[in-house]
Formats: sequence, structure tokens, C-alpha cells
Amino acid sequence: MAIQPDLIDPFGRRVTYLRISVTDRCDFRCTYCMSENMTFLPRRDLLTLEELERICVTFINKGVRNLRLTGGEPLVRRNVMHLISNLGQQIENGNLDELTITTNGSQLHRFSSQLFEYGVRRVNVSLDTLDRDQFAKITRWGRLDQVLNGLECARKAGLKIKINTVAVKNQNEYEIESMMKWAHGEGFDLTLIETMPLGEIDGDRNEQYLPISTVRARLEEKYTLEDIAYNTGGPARYVEVKETGGRIGFITPMTHNFCESCNRVRLTCTGKLYMCLGKDDEADLREPLRNSEGDELLSQAIEEAISRKPKGHDFLIDRDSKHSLSRHMSVTGG
Ligand code: SAM
Ligand code: SF4
Repeated sequence: MAIQPDLIDPFGRRVTYLRISVTDRCDFRCTYCMSENMTFLPRRDLLTLEELERICVTFINKGVRNLRLTGGEPLVRRNVMHLISNLGQQIENGNLDELTITTNGSQLHRFSSQLFEYGVRRVNVSLDTLDRDQFAKITRWGRLDQVLNGLECARKAGLKIKINTVAVKNQNEYEIESMMKWAHGEGFDLTLIETMPLGEIDGDRNEQYLPISTVRARLEEKYTLEDIAYNTGGPARYVEVKETGGRIGFITPMTHNFCESCNRVRLTCTGKLYMCLGKDDEADLREPLRNSEGDELLSQAIEEAISRKPKGHDFLIDRDSKHSLSRHMSVTGG
């Protein structure tokens, strides 16, 4: 592999982490993420799996060490396991440290063993509630038992599991403690996430927004939370819960700006590169990818994009939605 200079942005941050939304489609319709009647990106605009792989390998050649596949629901993209198998080879060859996946868990019963076989060792599974009815309400189309079965299959396959829970006011707000007790009892880390104003949804985001600081304060009334230095390469700040011995990660884009250590960029399934989750600026990688046999144009386009990575975002859930973005989380994959 030709040695190439690392990707360093104007603020001296090294970009070592690429998230790839392999599809914006999903078999769920979580209320904070999507409206029930979604218009998805036209299929003709989608990059093929081979094209996604070419982009990933170009990033790897430029110093990216971590890839996370996400979506939409990454495991509903047809033949996605081919891509995972090929990217897994990069771990075997020593070019990549980690290949991970963020999933709603609905397909883990089908794919867990293969994921492990191809080199995936950690999965983030999004689960907001353990109450069947509440689950159906939040995901609209999901079935809790299928996800719980998927989690069991993932565990049996040897995958390390982290649970991602979005804290939603008036929905799972008073269930966070039982989620924590369950997750820690199962040996899973739990990450709590604030809702972010991304994309049109059917409800009002103001009514969903629950500051993680409130959630943390409520937990602290009953539990001892100790800040720890544990880091999985993401934006979560971790604590250890003395009483359970488990870990909780807090992701607080709205109340706490975590941009200073940002090491990541995000690729959509149509080849757009977003340098910040909270900004609209993007770079098109599809044209340079398709216009060159080799990867020179693509490589230049990536470097140019990184030179535009902004210092940070300015999310704010406000009444006139001035600081909201029209793009859904499923486009850039969280
Ligand atoms: N479908 C997969 C899943 O649900 O894990 C992967 C994609 S999903 C967009 C990635 C993560 O983003 C999930 O944990 C989900 O709960 C979270 N998410 C979606 N919309 C969000 C929003 N508006 N604010 C905060 N988190 C959001
Ligand atoms: Fe689908 Fe994940 Fe969005 Fe839920 S959060 S609708 S599972 S992409």
C-alpha cells in the first residue's frame, strides 16, 4: 500500500474514523428519526457496494483506522455482507483496527455469526425501551421480541454489545433506570443520547427533547456515578455506576459540545461526505469516484473536503427551527 499523508483538518484534528450510511432505508420508523411516510433517496443515486468499498479503501489508505457501518438499517441493504466480508479483510491485513456496526437489531438473528466471522467484534444496538407497547409506539414498525432474540444471537456469536438509548421526553423518560439495570445485568454498556434536530418528523421535537443532564441528575439521586476515562473512540463521556458495576456513556450534542476531539466524517449511500453531523456542508465523492479508473481524483476530493471540516456544530432545538437540518439522521447514520 502506498504511504499517504494522514488526513488532518484545519484545527489539527486527525481524521481516523469513517461512518458509512450504506442505505437510508429502514424496517423501523422511530418517531424521533423519521416520519411514517418517508421519501427515501432514489435507488438510481445509490453507490454500489463495490463503489462504497473503493471509497472506504481510499480512506483507509489515507490513515482511517475505524469504520462503522450504519444507516438507515445497514443490515437491510441487499448483499451488505459482501461489503462487510471485504472490509473485514482489511483488518486481517493490518490496515484497519476496527469494523463496527450500528443496528436496530432486527436482523441480528440472521447475521450475527457471519458478522463475527468477517471480523466484526462490537455492535451498537439501538433500543429505547423494554416495554413491548412502548417499543411498538416508538419504532412504529418494530417488534421487541425480534430485537431481544437478535441480541441473544449476537451474544452467542461472540459480539460485544453496547445499547444505544435515545432519551425521549414522556416516552421512555422514566424507564432509563430499568434500562440501565437490565443492560448492566446482561453485561452490556449503555449509551444515552439526546434527540437532535435532524429531518422532518411527524411530531414536535420540542416535545421530545429531554436533556441528558436531567437524566443523569435523576440517576444520581439513587446511584453513584463515577467519571472514568474509558473511551470507545466516539463522543460519549463515560461513568461507572458503583452499584451495578456497569458503564453508562452520555452523548450530549445539545447540552455539551464534544466537537474539540472530533475525529470523524460521514459518508452517505449516494457518495456525499459530511464533515460534521450538525452542518449542511458536504462534498460529492461520487463524481470523482466514477470519473477515474484509479483513485487520484477521489483522493484529491477527500483531501479538499477535510480542509473544510468545521470547528463544531451549533445544534439548538428552538421554536422556529432555525438551527435544525432538513437531512434525517438515517442519511448520515448518526
Ligand atoms: N438503524 C440503526 C439504528 O437504529 O441503530 C442505525 C442508524 S440510526 C440513525 C443511528 C442512531 O441514531 C440510533 O441509535 C438512533 O437511535 C439515533 N437517532 C436517530 N435519529 C436521532 C435523532 N434525531 N436524535 C438523536 N439520535 C437519533
Ligand atoms: Fe431506523 Fe435507526 Fe432511524 Fe429507527 S433510528 S428509524 S431503526 S434508522
